[in-house]
Amino acid sequence: MQTRRELIKAMAASLALPALPFSAANALTHKPAPALGCSEEFPWFGAHYPDAQCIDGYLWDLDSYEDGLLTSGGDYPCPYCNAREFLDYLKDDVEEKGWVAFTDGEPPMANPYLKGSRFPHLTDQFQRMWSDGYREAAVKPDAIVDRRAALSK
Ligand SMILES: [Zn+2]
Repeated sequence: MQTRRELIKAMAASLALPALPFSAANALTHKPAPALGCSEEFPWFGAHYPDAQCIDGYLWDLDSYEDGLLTSGGDYPCPYCNAREFLDYLKDDVEEKGWVAFTDGEPPMANPYLKGSRFPHLTDQFQRMWSDGYREAAVKPDAIVDRRAALSK
């Protein structure tokens, strides 16, 4: 009798390309992109245990296993083998946080990514995105007024 986890592994293995040696550095250098699908497992969908698995470069919810299939996932790019798309996906959100921090009167050192991130290989990029948002607000004279207006609605 196979455990649920073994079944998932078998299923993922049948879907994924043969595992390639993967290093985080690969994802961001200008080498040809590695094949998508690193099978990495980590917490993502809200659990404290690894509840996400990368299949072909997108994250699937391991808790959505039903009748031999994962029924939920495929939307979030993988932060490891699909890092560029992952960063694009989060860009607006992270920049928005930087923008809001400026309009709230926070100092530039309030950048939360200065302390690191859940994905250490992407920490620099997160820091930069946050700073971009912060700087963008800093050079836009109306940013603070706009923000106050939005908050008072
Ligand atoms: Zn991956």
